[in-house]
Amino acid sequence: MALAQFHIYTPQEFQQYLVNTVFSRSIKMIQNHHTWEPNYSSLSPSQGEMYWLESMRSYHIHNNGWSDIAQNLTTFPSGNIGLCRPINITPAGIFGANSGAICIENLGNFDAGHDQMTLPHKDTIVFLNAILCMKFDLKPVKEQVVYHHWFDRSGKRFPESVVNNNQVGNQQKTCPGTAFFGNNTITSAEANFFPLIASRIKQLDETSISQIASMIVNTDVLNVRSGPGTSYPILRTITQDTQVAVYTTTNQWSKISNTADEWVFSSYLS
Ligand SMILES: [Zn+2]
Repeated sequence: MALAQFHIYTPQEFQQYLVNTVFSRSIKMIQNHHTWEPNYSSLSPSQGEMYWLESMRSYHIHNNGWSDIAQNLTTFPSGNIGLCRPINITPAGIFGANSGAICIENLGNFDAGHDQMTLPHKDTIVFLNAILCMKFDLKPVKEQVVYHHWFDRSGKRFPESVVNNNQVGNQQKTCPGTAFFGNNTITSAEANFFPLIASRIKQLDETSISQIASMIVNTDVLNVRSGPGTSYPILRTITQDTQVAVYTTTNQWSKISNTADEWVFSSYLS
């Protein structure tokens, strides 16, 4: 199979790519890692971000024996996002826990005393986790947004107390780092990382609600339902040429109220 075609995106460009692309693989979990090496000190102006993607790919193929670069996505200190192994292809992120997962490698060494995460990098990591949650209908909770450190080498989760009491020891890497948004425990993720993702999701939701499209009903009678699908009850009907505001869309259905669950089939709007 051909090797992955890499792309480097700004966070906003990547968001556009994500919104406009349909993926066939079902995603149930977002893995967060740090690369450890390369780290911030590896980077130099003469070797761009693409160089480091190629370098990691070469290492993963030749030293680890994998078919391609391990991760689906790489985040950089600049705040850019590298699309690596296609999202439709299972990554090699956490041995035994890759099925249904998307793997983010955050470039740097975020163990305590090493790289100080830049502000753009921090923003991008939060933003990326937020837009992936929105795309794949996930929440920033320990079951769905995970750290490598929480899984043993067979891909089984350590008991939560083992992770939180720092008893993992050398049974697993410290990945994504003992200073990653506080540290690498579940307690820390819940206190320092997940709330940032949740508030970013809320912010993005509000932005999309303010971007209202005005549409016209193009069929004689249009059913307004309580949810995005024909299995939801009909609340009322609206007639041809009625103007409606669309607040959000999902799977061919448009939400026409900002305050109530009122949905219509998008094809009957133009
Ligand atoms: Zn890792």
